[in-house]
Amino acid sequence: MDLGKFREILSSERERILEILKAEKENDVNTNDQWTEPKDPEDLANLTLSDDIRTKICEREYHTLREIEEALVRINSGKYGICEKCGKFIEEERLELIPWTRYCSACSKVYTKDR
Ligand SMILES: [Zn+2]
Repeated sequence: MDLGKFREILSSERERILEILKAEKENDVNTNDQWTEPKDPEDLANLTLSDDIRTKICEREYHTLREIEEALVRINSGKYGICEKCGKFIEEERLELIPWTRYCSACSKVYTKDR
């Protein structure tokens, strides 16, 4: 599997979502905090957004960003593309569609029905 390709896709998608979040932050007149781009998943976890901003941001974008961060960590640790539930390789066609997925198509039907 071409990990470099998926790393590139994930990185550009991450940039796109960060731009959306950044724009939301800049639009919020009640917030004077300096925007600092999160450098790693821990920074992202500590990222504090006011409730006001949080409600404005598309929850899905925020969720996807977290998934992307974790997928990038999995690429770095060599676990990318392996289903977290059954341990099998995730179909490459599926990764093309959802590069940050953590389950193979069979498991995703069972475990991500609330997405
Ligand atoms: Zn699976």
